[in-house]
Amino acid sequence: MEAGMSMSERSDGRESVAAEVISLEKDATETAGSKTADPGPGGVSRSAGLEKPDSVDLGESPGPSPGLLRSEAVDLFRRRDLTPLAAEARRIATREFGDDVYLRGLIEYTNFCAVDCLYCGIRRSNSHPRRYRLSSEEILAAVKEGYGRGLRTFVLQGGEDRWFTTDRLARICEDIKEVTGGEAALTLSCGIRPAADYRLLKAAGADRYLMRFETSDPDLHRHLRGGVELKHRLDALENLLSAGFQVGSGFMVGLPGENDDTVIRNVELCAEMGVDMAGVGPFIPHHQTPLADSLQQPLELALYATALVRIFCPETHIPATTAAGSLEKDGRERMIACGANVLMPNLTPVTYKKDYLLYPGKICLDESGLQCVGCLSMRVLTVDRQISFDRADGRVGGPAA
Ligand code: SF4
Repeated sequence: MEAGMSMSERSDGRESVAAEVISLEKDATETAGSKTADPGPGGVSRSAGLEKPDSVDLGESPGPSPGLLRSEAVDLFRRRDLTPLAAEARRIATREFGDDVYLRGLIEYTNFCAVDCLYCGIRRSNSHPRRYRLSSEEILAAVKEGYGRGLRTFVLQGGEDRWFTTDRLARICEDIKEVTGGEAALTLSCGIRPAADYRLLKAAGADRYLMRFETSDPDLHRHLRGGVELKHRLDALENLLSAGFQVGSGFMVGLPGENDDTVIRNVELCAEMGVDMAGVGPFIPHHQTPLADSLQQPLELALYATALVRIFCPETHIPATTAAGSLEKDGRERMIACGANVLMPNLTPVTYKKDYLLYPGKICLDESGLQCVGCLSMRVLTVDRQISFDRADGRVGGPAA
């Protein structure tokens, strides 16, 4: 490999989506020595089997690095110096997970929601979306389809829909465990519920639970989230940890009313909670919400935040969010170049996908789950990663000491 060759030249005719951050990051890692043979947690026993072209070696040589202090990373963020921040984040991601990007099959099972978050396209007060609930049969069919394709993690995500009582959800959890022979990890993302309900869902087979806090600013949280207190959400996250879940959380960036301190505090909060997964989503104003006229911040803000999360939370799984891919065509790939290591192909039946628009411009609405898996497999190659079907359990599991 010629060191001075550009990404697009190296990629042998494939579309170059790595952007400046990737090529600059490569320069940093190439000077750091040879790669250690670290297969990452769980290895790549269920790797996608796609050959990584010889001509692409981006990130092959993470090697030893002096690393960045957290304070130095924060300083780079404040100065908007993405290159060294991304280089460090990518180095850590490679050290922890090798070249693997793990797949989680996403099923958006209901777009009913009792809450009225100002930014959200399926908020209670928005009368435009066609509301839907997937039947148990539709959910299981989506799981079976994904399982047949090799997926070993499924995420049931929906609004806070009380029609799905904890008992109903528990039956669905048991059914999913049964049809996957207990092999697949099951993640729920169903909002705030009583602590006892979390324990029931855990007993029914759910392994993980996602609930983003969205902003660490208590006043902003109350304002944006229909009066719900940040403390209420953080207490629920504590209850999930106590119930034994692998817990995912995260936040949005670019919200009206936040500043750099908010973003830094968001990252610190992820580290303090000891979450196993932390998502960063760019805020995208939705035309049917009270925030329709808000400013759209550039994707770069989400890239900085992603890199910071990776540096603060080395072992935490970080999704390259669909919102990033909706904001810019190569948004997810650029998030991976900044330390993300998870992608979530959307297994929701196509007929419902267009009704689950938390934000406008959402991509992949016309593709089936299987098409999503194929597309994502190719996309990760452009940033010299490979998809893995390993269920990739969390490794953090609780508050930092
Ligand atoms: S962000 Fe979640 S809780 Fe808030 S309105 Fe949207 S679906 Fe409901």
